[in-house]
Order: sequence, then C-alpha cells, then structure tokens
Amino acid sequence: MVNLENMKKWMTLFTEQLLENKAYLSELDTAIGDGDHGNNLARGATALKEALTVKEPDNVTDLLKLTGMTLVSKVGGASGPLYGSAFISMAKASQESEDLAVLLEAGLEGVQKRGKAMAGEKTMVDEWIPVIEAVKNKNLTTELIEKSVEKTIDMKATKGRASYLGDRSIGHIDPGAMSSSYLFKTMMEAGV
Ligand code: ADP
Ligand code: MG
Ligand code: MG
Repeated sequence: MVNLENMKKWMTLFTEQLLENKAYLSELDTAIGDGDHGNNLARGATALKEALTVKEPDNVTDLLKLTGMTLVSKVGGASGPLYGSAFISMAKASQESEDLAVLLEAGLEGVQKRGKAMAGEKTMVDEWIPVIEAVKNKNLTTELIEKSVEKTIDMKATKGRASYLGDRSIGHIDPGAMSSSYLFKTMMEAGV
C-alpha cells in the first residue's frame, strides 16, 4: 500500500540515487546517445528535492503530481516528459487506488502513451514491464531489477536517440533502464 510517508521516503531516496549516479548515467548515455541522461535527471532531482521541502505536499496525489510537474519542467530531453508522464499518470491513479501495482501500471501507460515504445525496444519500458509483473506477483527482488537492466544490453534500440545507431546500439546498457532501476530499487528500500 502506498502512503504519504513511504512515498516521500521513496522520492527522497530516488533523488539521492540520481545525484550519486549522475556521472555514470551520463557515461552510459555517451555510448549510445548524447551523454546527458545523468545531468538531465540530476537537474530534476535537485529541483525535486527543493520542491518537496518548500511545498510539503500532504497527500500522495499531490506528492506524485509535484514530482511529475517538476521532472517535466526541469529534466528535459526525452526522459523528462517520459518520467513526468509516468508520475502524473500515477498521481491520477492514486485518486482511486492505494495499490502499488495499479499506480505503476498507470505510470507505464503514461510512458507508453507519450513515447510509444513497446517491450524489446531498448528503453526504460524494458525495466518497467518486468518490475510491474513482479510487483503483481509479489516477488520483486533486487536481482530481477538488475537482470532486467542487463537484458537491454543485447537489444537493438528502435526508439529514442539510440535508435539512430541501429545495430551499433547493441552491446550497451540503456541509460533510461538503468535510471528506472534506481527508481525501483529505492521503491523497495522505502518499503512502498
Ligand atoms: P535524450 O535522448 O533526449 O538526450 P535522455 O538522455 O535524458 O534524453 O534519455 C534517454 C533515455 O530515454 C533512453 O535511454 C531511454 O530509456 C529513454 N527513452 C527514449 N525514448 C523513449 C521512448 N520513446 N519511450 C520510452 N523511453 C524512451
Ligand atoms: Mg541523452
Ligand atoms: Mg539530450
């Protein structure tokens, strides 16, 4: 069950992970993109940390909405609107449900509505799909989160900037799948 306390903890831990791994995420994006994924998300993380302390949302829906709006306006690139859509869709779903799987499914729907990526296109979607499946089956583990990122290595990108590389995108981790792995690891850590 999601509640204000575990969601706040989740967002705080997520922003910390993004700031800690800024250089690594941009390094991954250098191989198959334009090298800015870590910087993009770190900018969003800094803004989100600030917004959470200044605005102090007092319910889950407002917290998720604030997160989504902040990421949309600060992250930029492809990932800003995608993560933003995810959180805004989760905010909407949270008006009717406190079930984590329901919220995450709404989040994924938001990402796919905006980005049109399906499974196997080497994007963050390839991290979200197996994680949601595991959340539903109540068997999410750190190993599954990490293995799902690794599975993007052999995929050929057919969406986003990495798709410009065609076959040369094969052999590299997708940066967005990696940043989503931080999202889901911190979700576990926060006890959501
Ligand atoms: P940009 O490519 O504009 O520089 P980022 O580097 O911040 O944006 O984000 C790149 C990440 O965004 C990719 O690694 C991928 O996971 C994700 N991404 C790109 N396009 C899509 C899409 N259409 N659907 C889902 N995720 C996508
Ligand atoms: Mg990039
Ligand atoms: Mg960019």
